[in-house]
Amino acid sequence: MYNIAVIYGDGVGKEIIKEAIRVLEKISSVFDIEFTFNRYLAGGEAIDECGLPLPSETIEGCKNADAVLLGSVGGPKWDNVPSDKRPERAILGLRKELELFINIRPIKLFAELESACPIKTEITNSNIDFIIVRELTGGVYFGEKGRGENNGVAYAYDTEKYDENEIARAVKAGFEMAMLRDKKVTIVDKANVLESSKLWREVTNKVHEDYPQIELDYLYVDNAVMQIILKPSSFDVIITSNIFGDIISDEASVLCGSIGLAPSASLGNNSTLGLYEPIHGSAPDIMGKNIANPIGTILSAAMMLRYSLKEHEAASAIENAVALAIKEGARTADIASSGSQNKVGTSEMADIIISHIKK
Ligand code: NAD
Repeated sequence: MYNIAVIYGDGVGKEIIKEAIRVLEKISSVFDIEFTFNRYLAGGEAIDECGLPLPSETIEGCKNADAVLLGSVGGPKWDNVPSDKRPERAILGLRKELELFINIRPIKLFAELESACPIKTEITNSNIDFIIVRELTGGVYFGEKGRGENNGVAYAYDTEKYDENEIARAVKAGFEMAMLRDKKVTIVDKANVLESSKLWREVTNKVHEDYPQIELDYLYVDNAVMQIILKPSSFDVIITSNIFGDIISDEASVLCGSIGLAPSASLGNNSTLGLYEPIHGSAPDIMGKNIANPIGTILSAAMMLRYSLKEHEAASAIENAVALAIKEGARTADIASSGSQNKVGTSEMADIIISHIKK
């Protein structure tokens, strides 16, 4: 029996999580796996109910769960609340409370969705299938920051700071992922300019001694952003710092064809407890219309089965069902490109995926 903490969140979050739970219920009946789903509040709906984006019951509930499944938080209704109480604070708070120090984003283009990808076919018909491992709790977002004035001139600063332990645990986690894939790691950094990147390289080289099977290379981030578009099939596992990972993972998601398709996992010290969510936000422009693509969330549920619950067969069953739904032409509005396809809404897409789940 697995205890899943579920945060529906705001906007389309409610619509897509509902469908991911239906998929997990089908998994439960096909694979004889039991789930209990406990609902917790976070983000805007938590602000409305309890005045806080991340109530303590939510933190406790998530800490006691086997995994956390999250929709998305935020929306225009809460745009003017003080910045320390914004809905998005819930995500940062959960990462901190659950000690989640890496975020994993698979970047995979389904062959049938090439036309939804804005990149030329010569590039997209090479196999695009890599993951980005982003350090999540250090670096410039959490370093010392401030503002001041010097002789009437205003200044501001943010500090990129990492210690060797923070780097080593992120790099090790990425190497472990690579061991399950093609054993090729690219570290993305700016070691020609930044001291922190030089330390990343020193620590990575040390960690590499324990993983001699892994082919390791380094790319400066300015070159990496080009190569991700020009030669996406050359990557297997990219490991990078918090800020570089933030930027390149959104860039790379464009290769998948739609932000609505991309799942993510955040993992940490506890080798199993993880937070699983689609990479997109609450999409207030399309909420309530039954047109949001649920695939990013459904694939996040598959990642949850794989990484937290170690139910690999069930995870593959979801991934195969999604691939089959796409293969047979099911398309939500964001990935539909011609009249010949079967244009479906959020719940119909989930129905089709569910119909393909088998042992
Ligand atoms: P967004 O990701 O919500 O939307 C960007 C664009 O992608 C929109 O055009 C939207 O319609 C489309 N889109 C998003 N998800 C989709 C899906 N499943 N299917 C089809 N189309 C989809 O980004 P935004 O508009 O910048 O942010 C909206 C709110 O979400 C903001 O309050 C933001 O702070 C918040 N946000 C939350 C998270 C999170 O919960 N982790 C992440 C990003 C943004």
